[in-house]
Amino acid sequence: MPSTSSPHRKAASRDIAKRTARPVPHPSENGAGVPSLKVSDYFGINTFGVRQMRDKLSRDAYAKLVAAVRLGKKLDPDTAPKVAAIIRDWAIAKGATHFTHWFQPQTGLTAEKHDAFLSFEDGAPLESFSASQLVQSEPDASSFPSGGLRATWEARGYTAWNPASPVFIAEWAGVKTLCIPSVFIGYNGEALDEVTPLLRSSDVLSAKAIELLELLGDKGVQRVFTTLGPEQEYFLIDRDHFALRPDLVMAGRTLIGAPPPRGQQLEDHYFGGIPERVQACIAEVEQELYKLGVPIVTRHNEVAPSQFEMAPRFEETDVAVDHNQLVMATLRRVALRHNLQALLHEKPFAGINGSGKHCNWSMSITADNPDLDGFNLLKPGKTPHQNIRFLVFLAAVLRGVHKHAPALRAGIGTSGNEHRLGANEAPPAIISVFMGDFLTHVIESIASGKSTRSAEEEMIKLGVTRLPEVQRDNTDRNRTSPFAFTGNKFEFRAVGSSQSIAFPVMLLNAAVAEAIGDITSEIKAELKKTKKVDDAVLKVVRGVFKETAAVRFEGNNYSEDWVKEAAKRGLPNFRRTPEALKQLTTKQTHDLLVKLGVFTEEELESRYHVRLERYIKDMLIEMHTMREMVDTLVLPAAFTYSGSLAESAAQAKAAGISVIPQIETANAIGKAIQDLQKARAALSKTLEKAEGMHDELEAQAQLLTSQGADAMAEARKASDAIELMVDDNCWHLPKYREMLFPV
Ligand code: ADP
Ligand code: MG
Repeated sequence: MPSTSSPHRKAASRDIAKRTARPVPHPSENGAGVPSLKVSDYFGINTFGVRQMRDKLSRDAYAKLVAAVRLGKKLDPDTAPKVAAIIRDWAIAKGATHFTHWFQPQTGLTAEKHDAFLSFEDGAPLESFSASQLVQSEPDASSFPSGGLRATWEARGYTAWNPASPVFIAEWAGVKTLCIPSVFIGYNGEALDEVTPLLRSSDVLSAKAIELLELLGDKGVQRVFTTLGPEQEYFLIDRDHFALRPDLVMAGRTLIGAPPPRGQQLEDHYFGGIPERVQACIAEVEQELYKLGVPIVTRHNEVAPSQFEMAPRFEETDVAVDHNQLVMATLRRVALRHNLQALLHEKPFAGINGSGKHCNWSMSITADNPDLDGFNLLKPGKTPHQNIRFLVFLAAVLRGVHKHAPALRAGIGTSGNEHRLGANEAPPAIISVFMGDFLTHVIESIASGKSTRSAEEEMIKLGVTRLPEVQRDNTDRNRTSPFAFTGNKFEFRAVGSSQSIAFPVMLLNAAVAEAIGDITSEIKAELKKTKKVDDAVLKVVRGVFKETAAVRFEGNNYSEDWVKEAAKRGLPNFRRTPEALKQLTTKQTHDLLVKLGVFTEEELESRYHVRLERYIKDMLIEMHTMREMVDTLVLPAAFTYSGSLAESAAQAKAAGISVIPQIETANAIGKAIQDLQKARAALSKTLEKAEGMHDELEAQAQLLTSQGADAMAEARKASDAIELMVDDNCWHLPKYREMLFPV
């Protein structure tokens, strides 16, 4: 008999319907310590940056610290103890009891190990924090992924403070911990984390860009840094629904679930009014982030029901990457206070939009020359010379992205993003660049031009000075491109919502750095023939525009025609994650990263292994979860229902009723059960085969991405059919409509 009491899912929905918004705490009650609602009064109150140390350090020590931060240099041993003492006093005054090096192993998340400030001197307790504790720490590193770089029996690695990212106090449930943003390296200097290679890529881009700028006559540049504004998309659903879904709990996405009659087709969610409970949650997330100095400036509904986005004001990349980790962690934690669950997975629900993380990226200058300091290199300028400079950096991005599209694709290759790339709403796995009408015209005119005109004349004739206004008006920008120029920055849109952006951005930095270096050499060679620098630059830029024509695409990236066209153009299309990751092992990627010094050979190899292993683990977790759900939830529901139909049919027959319509439905459900059993058997077989494979990562990944994914798709189809047939009272899993359209 079907249970007459309604399943948990119904009770959950009833409870949820009664919930109201949890009021957002006043910042003064929430540890900010100021009786003000003005964000500017408590912004960054839980961080301790360089500026706050000014009054407390000698001029000399302060200058050294600023240099360490601004120019990415190491802090010298004389200054470190002074800085440590100041940080300790600040943290203890704020109520912190512990400190931790906060770092980013290759798990996509952050890691921390807390140590108390408490120590003892002659038996008396006191708070202490030494320079060496600030600068270096040694976590037990054996359990972090290393891709074979560091055998577990010599699990020695250490974390080292990265002063470019301000220390902060994490405050959860009233517990305050001083967090010291750090890199994580092995004893021989191997990068074991996501941040070290990113810092290296920033350094190399800076060096190459300065060389080019000097050649262009722009002197006094101290550093060129990249800027990053990651737009974080996410879903918020009710915690009670989440808890009833093993797939969401285990894999972060629904592995089964029939599409509801209404998805996003009414287009009523995007930019719609934010529901009150969600609004309260988001406001509290923002409040926590403001205290940590994370400049969140936009919030809105996204396209799918229950999908949202928050975006910061852009910052220097190294800081923005840390801040994005804080955004993800804070979303996850604060949502729970509101009985909500943040889903950061790239594709939590089939059939509606997934989530990405558009990475807005550009390059800026630090210089003692005020005309150049803070200048954005991808911002079109006013004079012909400024525009030549703009175009040469633009050309470098085009060359980098064109040449290293495979590496960039590898950088966004995860099991989650696989469901998104190439799905209807997301950019396809083909990396192309969108430029907009006007720039396309400029680029094509230059590419097809003859070099008779001087650079200055050419800039004037093409009206490049009009670019800033034209770009501002360029409202209907192509939304389907994986990599789009949006006026004064590029937007790398194919990045996944849950991933750490350090890796893809590091690859982008490196690809562009290499291109800048090559372009510089070409200009130098040209200067042997041409006298005027700008003319030499234009000549080289012309060559780059010609050579990269294939990567520029202004049309609809979602169309089938584009897939064919891209193939004709020779652009790679790596649809599945294993083949995308494989691009990390090619000679071309190797030459890029190893030659630039971003990775050693071993480090690069370990990246490939860590990422491939992660893909395999994700797939195995999903397949196990699915099999269990089929066995313990879907099949039992189907049997309960078909049993009740059989029973009622038997009763009808016994009562002498001649029309027994139950039989038709029972047969249909019987057929669906058989389909599911068949799919389950295939899934199980593939799972066992995959688990029986040892030391053959690539073959394992290949099996999972083909037969594994197919088996899951088949099982899902059969399960979803059953969901739509069985008595609602037999079904225990929250349905899509309940999770996505809370009432
Ligand atoms: P949209 O692209 O949605 O119209 P904006 O152009 O204002 O919105 O910017 C979106 C994101 O791009 C924001 O996070 C913003 O800070 C960031 N952004 C703006 N300028 C830059 C830049 N020079 N470098 C990196 N990110 C930038
Ligand atoms: Mg968006």
